[in-house]
Amino acid sequence: MKCKQFKKCGACRFQCDEYEHSIAYKQNYLNNLLSEFGRVNGIIPMEKPFNYRNKVQAAFYFDFKKKKTVSGVYQSNSKSITPIDYCALDNRQADEIILTVRKLADDFKLRAYDIRSKTGFLRHILVRKGFNTGEIMVVIVSATPVFPSKNNFVKALLEKHPEITTVVHNINQSNTNLALGEQSHTLYGKGYIEDTLCSCTFRISPASFYQINPVQTEILYNTAIDFAGLTGKEAVFDAYCGTGTIGIIASKSAKQVLGVELNENAVKDAVSNAKRNGAENIFFIEADATKLINDLAKEKEHFDVVFMDPPRAGASKEFLLSLLKLKPEKIVYISCNPETLARDLKTLNRKYRVEKIQGVDMFPFTRHLETVVLLRRYVKEEKK
Ligand code: SAH
Repeated sequence: MKCKQFKKCGACRFQCDEYEHSIAYKQNYLNNLLSEFGRVNGIIPMEKPFNYRNKVQAAFYFDFKKKKTVSGVYQSNSKSITPIDYCALDNRQADEIILTVRKLADDFKLRAYDIRSKTGFLRHILVRKGFNTGEIMVVIVSATPVFPSKNNFVKALLEKHPEITTVVHNINQSNTNLALGEQSHTLYGKGYIEDTLCSCTFRISPASFYQINPVQTEILYNTAIDFAGLTGKEAVFDAYCGTGTIGIIASKSAKQVLGVELNENAVKDAVSNAKRNGAENIFFIEADATKLINDLAKEKEHFDVVFMDPPRAGASKEFLLSLLKLKPEKIVYISCNPETLARDLKTLNRKYRVEKIQGVDMFPFTRHLETVVLLRRYVKEEKK
């Protein structure tokens, strides 16, 4: 089956009936970039590559011809919204909830916000689901703070979807098409959901970062932990740790873990996630990874394993040079961009041998791909 909104939406690179072709394409791309460093394993595909998204977001507009509220996604770099009812990648329940909210918006006369005239109330909706816990969070984003008949609105929504575990009202008065504003009020439930990954529990708040394909994330993290070969004795450094996921999972089979992350809210989530999982041997520092690793190398701190999971831009040259000075025995590089990965491996290759390269298809049908690389130090200690 082909997707009708493929061209206008623009999120996918491949059509719904092209999964095998997409994997072959990504494999070829990975081989071209990385085979100079070592053997590239076959990409781990997703067994059922549909409805994998645990987070679905939509923007609203009012269709004056049809006299009803419609929702969809912003076309890239534009203020136009492409209407979408169902997407083959979205969690189905999330799509259903969004369709209900559209209808309720008309029933309750909540007019959709118009970004050009800056009028109206209802801007976006965000639905997040914990695939392993079944918990569902609905975040209704409005342009103005007063939510008319909010109690009745929530009641009607829950009557239709008793599976929803929490409803949050978020206010976004900004001029951008970013989904969330800074203020949130819980209208129903606890204001967040939880999910489990690799037997650890993580809290997901409206704005928390959490991987959007939990099935493949578990495979990705297990691959990374497996590459590290932890025995319980290691000192581990988790660079670009986000909300602490990799480090917390690793902490169960390591002596001690230090995580570093630039984003203040992610660090807060990481600290509470560690507590939630009873991980007492993990610590987090809110800092620039480059600066911290530079300091750690200067102080001759010792780490056995470094996990690094930088954003698409990869790591800075200075980070990589400090990492060479820090001299961990192993580096596990988790990358969401094979091009910057290849660039960074050139630097690490001076003192590290690439032992394993594993692609994981985290975002089926899109152009994106995650890769995990295991590097081992091979240069003997220089004589003093
Ligand atoms: N390892 C996490 C998050 C990876 S995303 C996970 O698997 O969920 C990359 C993270 O790097 C983001 O959380 C981003 O905030 C953080 N980051 C970006 N630049 C950084 C820097 N210079 N120093 C530290 N962290 C940084």
